[in-house]
Amino acid sequence: MTKAILPNSTIGIFGSGQLGRMAAIEARKLGYRVHTFSPGRDTPTGQVADAETTAAYDDLFEVRTFAQTVDVVTFEFENVPSATIEAAAEFVPVYPRGEILHTTQNRLREKTFLAKNGFPLAGFRRVRTVEDLFKGVEELGLPVVLKTAGFGYDGKGQAKITANGEIEAAFDALNGEEAVLEQFVAFEKEVSVVCVRGQAGEFAHYGVIENDHANHILDVSFAPAAVEDAVAEHAIEIARAIGEAFEYVGTYCVEFFLEGNGTLRVNEIAPRPHNSGHLTFDACVTSQFEQQIRAVCGLPLGSPEYLRPAAMANLLGDVWEAGEPNWAAALEDPGIKLHLYGKSDPRPGRKMGHIAALADTPQRAVELVRTARRKLQHS
Ligand code: AMP
Repeated sequence: MTKAILPNSTIGIFGSGQLGRMAAIEARKLGYRVHTFSPGRDTPTGQVADAETTAAYDDLFEVRTFAQTVDVVTFEFENVPSATIEAAAEFVPVYPRGEILHTTQNRLREKTFLAKNGFPLAGFRRVRTVEDLFKGVEELGLPVVLKTAGFGYDGKGQAKITANGEIEAAFDALNGEEAVLEQFVAFEKEVSVVCVRGQAGEFAHYGVIENDHANHILDVSFAPAAVEDAVAEHAIEIARAIGEAFEYVGTYCVEFFLEGNGTLRVNEIAPRPHNSGHLTFDACVTSQFEQQIRAVCGLPLGSPEYLRPAAMANLLGDVWEAGEPNWAAALEDPGIKLHLYGKSDPRPGRKMGHIAALADTPQRAVELVRTARRKLQHS
């Protein structure tokens, strides 16, 4: 194991959104300094960091300059080019490893890696030509989902195909990009396992979190998920084994589809803290963000124990539609925790913040966060 990077050292973060912001807050609690690197200015992470570099990810001169001023580098945004990571790694340790990012940046590479290692997935095929697509639909059977292989998130670059007549239009919408065709999974629920793996292979997890989406974007998460113990154990075991297969260091999340018969299929891996783990910020002894800092700095992991069952509701820009939200109304219940990410432009669909609550049951926590969120739009 490499030497621990101790408090007062500087942690470099590629990316500057809310994930970096919450990690930076935890880093500062531990006495670290934070330096963020992204093309943005006055960013959610930059606002709470000691230093903010504004440069393109492919500006390797700036990347090398940045890497020489920090003691370790991590990410909050996984679509950083490989050359950028390699340039940073010339000077400092980078966690998770660049190779892992390269694999998880692309759905085809990720699914191929998972399938090769025996993890359960929905059937998939690579699509480069319209002939590939026709053949794939024939082999997998309808309905299917066609997704661009690179740079997709929150349902962007995805099309569901339910009839043969839709195949050509779905192919044209790819605009020549490589894609992955997937069997449509008639899931009962979506769940995730947020985990952390340390430099010596230590492992901690937050159990199974249940996720409700609206318009392909995470809406509400709660923990513990309403799943059978055997399903929870299986999901955690798969998530742990994926971390081992990658020799991962840091916080990561495995998203699953859970079918009615208890079958779990991995949807995707996030090589970073995850939106479904935001509730750990208020609900756990050690949050997913603090674990990320501890893991990349080589400190012992913290306890992931929940203080109580918890829920989280995302606040999208849509909440601002009728003007400034009514913060006081949402905070009337003293148990409600409000997190805002410092973004000044509340566009529809943009993640602006979240609300969290703890309660005696996860269902009660969900009621609390949904009620608080509704109150935001009451004058
Ligand atoms: P993704 O960006 O791949 O995580 O997809 C976003 C959301 O689209 C998922 O959380 C699911 O709700 C839905 N989705 C994606 N792929 C499938 C699939 N193969 N079967 C059913 N629903 C899917």
